[in-house]
Amino acid sequence: MALIVQKFGGTSLADPERIRRAASRVQKAVQQGNQVVVVVSAMGHTTDRLLAQAEELCERPSARELDMLLVTGEQVAASLFAIALQAHDVPSVSLTGALAGIRTEADHGNAQICKIDPARIHAELQQGKVAIVTGFQGVTEQGDPTTLGRGGSDTSAVALAAALGAELCEICTDVDGVYTADPREVPSAQKIEFLTYDEMMEMAVLGAVVLHPRAVETAKLHRVPVIVRSSFHDGHGTQIGMEPKRLQSVSEGV
Ligand code: ASP
Ligand code: MG
Repeated sequence: MALIVQKFGGTSLADPERIRRAASRVQKAVQQGNQVVVVVSAMGHTTDRLLAQAEELCERPSARELDMLLVTGEQVAASLFAIALQAHDVPSVSLTGALAGIRTEADHGNAQICKIDPARIHAELQQGKVAIVTGFQGVTEQGDPTTLGRGGSDTSAVALAAALGAELCEICTDVDGVYTADPREVPSAQKIEFLTYDEMMEMAVLGAVVLHPRAVETAKLHRVPVIVRSSFHDGHGTQIGMEPKRLQSVSEGV
């Protein structure tokens, strides 16, 4: 039995039907005998909408109140995800960053994770449940909610995979994997099968939005194997890790 983390981005959760589809992916992974921790982003453009509402009321809202506001986006997605799984008799529970034991510094809006206590998640898994964790957020020592910066739920997923000793962190998104260039702009762009952490880092820093740079950094530090794949079909996506064994064995054989 493997423990895996599956993260779903906002586009993959934009409406109840998409949440249902994402949940059926998780159900499949459970039926294959895996323990699954799901990390969710907020649905669709929720985060942008919440920010716009705050800015309608105040030109410069305080960072602490913005965090209090923004964490609700992921909480809606997490609870709906749990409800979708329960509708198919898959035992599940949604957890906020605080409940999931994700402690951060108090730097509101751009907080760094300082430690994760995975006891609650392990306890839920032990009881046969899927744990659905809100991405992009944690809690300060005082108990205030924090967010990790835009795109931060990738980092939540990888950091949780590291803390749980997960076998794999799957980033399920609206593209098939990492491409040599943006396939919407460059028709000849090709999907990449394998990238080392450093190669992925270079691409993320250059603006490949598919994976947040801090998530890549965290994956490299803890050697978490990552796969970026579509949440809509079964294509095998792009693997990110240490040197690819496949290539080594090919050259050894020459
Ligand atoms: N919901 C947050 C954002 O839109 C975090 C994320 O999606 O990773 O930036
Ligand atoms: Mg993202």
